Amino acid sequence: MAILDGISAGDLMDPQNGGISYDDFILLPGHIDFHHQEVDLSTRVSKRIKLNLPFVSSPMDTVTENEMAIKLALLGGLGVIHYNNSVEEQAEEIRKVKRFENGFITAPVVLGPDATLADVDRIKERYGFSGIPITEGGEASGRLVGIVTNRDVEFEPDRSRPLREVMTTEVVTAPAGITLQEANDHLRRSKKGKLPLVDGKGRLVSLISRRDLLKNRDYPEAIKNERKQLRVGAAVSTRDADRERVAALVEAGVDLIVIDAAQGDSIYEIRLLEWMKQEFGDRVDVMGGNVVTRAQARRLIEAGADGLRIGMGPGSICTTQGTMAVGRAQATAVFNTALEAREHDVPILADGGISQIGHIAKALALGASAVMMGYMFAGTEEAPGEYFYDNGIRLKRYRGMASIEAMAAGGDKRYMTRADDRKVKVAQGVSGSVLDKGPLDLYVPYLVQGLRQSLQDMGVKGVSVLHEALIGETLRFERRTHAAQIEGGVHGLYNYSESGLGMRG
Ligand code: GDP
Ligand code: GDP
Ligand code: 5GP
Repeated sequence: MAILDGISAGDLMDPQNGGISYDDFILLPGHIDFHHQEVDLSTRVSKRIKLNLPFVSSPMDTVTENEMAIKLALLGGLGVIHYNNSVEEQAEEIRKVKRFENGFITAPVVLGPDATLADVDRIKERYGFSGIPITEGGEASGRLVGIVTNRDVEFEPDRSRPLREVMTTEVVTAPAGITLQEANDHLRRSKKGKLPLVDGKGRLVSLISRRDLLKNRDYPEAIKNERKQLRVGAAVSTRDADRERVAALVEAGVDLIVIDAAQGDSIYEIRLLEWMKQEFGDRVDVMGGNVVTRAQARRLIEAGADGLRIGMGPGSICTTQGTMAVGRAQATAVFNTALEAREHDVPILADGGISQIGHIAKALALGASAVMMGYMFAGTEEAPGEYFYDNGIRLKRYRGMASIEAMAAGGDKRYMTRADDRKVKVAQGVSGSVLDKGPLDLYVPYLVQGLRQSLQDMGVKGVSVLHEALIGETLRFERRTHAAQIEGGVHGLYNYSESGLGMRG
């Protein structure tokens, strides 16, 4: 008979004691019989989208554009592109992620023999590559007559020269229809950078690039679709006008659409959800939110949500609870909605209020399948915006999407349900700055290592085992009194230093 100390999550969340936040409780240690490297952080963000890390970045204009989304997906998480931009701009962000890595590139950018070096420069500028198959007449599936790569064009001073004069005409090709594995072997043997695949009549069908083999080797945990393109999410508002946005995002290849509303339980959101499931349900997963109660969660699940985003007011830049007097303490919100969602096999994402690794562990321990973070990823190199210095400290801007500043730039769609409401603006967020956290290539492994050790301390070997321990009540909790919280933090020192990659708390 196991000796159980502490209390279950259900007892911890007794409504008589009020709502609680991550800092109000602690997990009791379990038994360790495995190395922390064995802890499996793979999870799901929605019904059909699996992740190797439970990290998702917030759709905010100081957090997620293509750079953040590309790097997070390479590392095993997911980025959600913000919509404080035009439909075309947001779709272009998605296309950039999708173009970054590929198996077979099924619609490669091509040019004709009469195009010039300047045309190659424009493609390089827009997409970052310059390996371009040359087809007769420049048609997408025209007969392959040559190939132009960086080496053919880099030292040529006259950019008006036609490509027919510089292209390689003896192209190594392979027949279309072979498997990706076979095509990769071909590419390795040929020692070229590109391998065009052609049909029986010599017409271009697709292309593979050596660069993708390298990316695949360097980022084995990358989250990709069946075409080996990185996965990416995008946020939209509940307004009718955004249906056009949804269609453009789906067309650009988005994997997850996140309906971004501070209070997601509205007829506007439910109608949009139902429409999206009907129109595009086979092509994308749809995440509903934000919600914090079981009833709200149930309604969005019934409308077809493939995942739910949880949180109303816990964000570091957020003033919703003060302004609106509505919301919920985040730990309580996560636990209750997770219970409801679990009955329908819908994953939930704990969104906002995460400012240290322990908060991630606690959100997962309360039933979240992954966490969404703005603050933690703001200030990394991949976040939009330039670094600046204040008193010798290197900083980046970070602002709420309902701050006066972001609303002035178009970010008020989330917080105002109808266009005519937007004449009077009540801010629900602030703008500020955060410390430099360096590149994600260093920062994410740091989060991963911390999280693995945390789960190891709990005695659980992975996210799904953690959820079983939660439901089975073998995962034990304890409330922290005010004195316990002081005791658990640094105290009593005259001074101290912290080398935690710009971490707070
Ligand atoms: P599966 O066959 O769909 O399970 O996927 P694998 O990951 O086993 O990939 C099949 C082949 O494609 C292997 O040779 C992989 O190394 C290779 N591969 C995986 N990702 C990529 C990629 O992004 N680009 C290219 N060109 N090859 C890839
Ligand atoms: P290049 O030598 O300048 O063409 O570029 P690399 O071979 O270094 O990188 C090409 C990268 O861009 C690969 O990851 C491709 O998957 C990606 N890519 C996406 N779409 C295209 C395309 O239409 N053409 C080419 N050449 N690459 C593409
Ligand atoms: P953080 O990780 O910084 O604690 O919280 C990020 C989350 O705060 C976002 O994912 C989003 O849900 C929420 N958020 C972003 N901007 C605003 C805002 O201006 N006001 C409010 N209330 N929430 C915001």
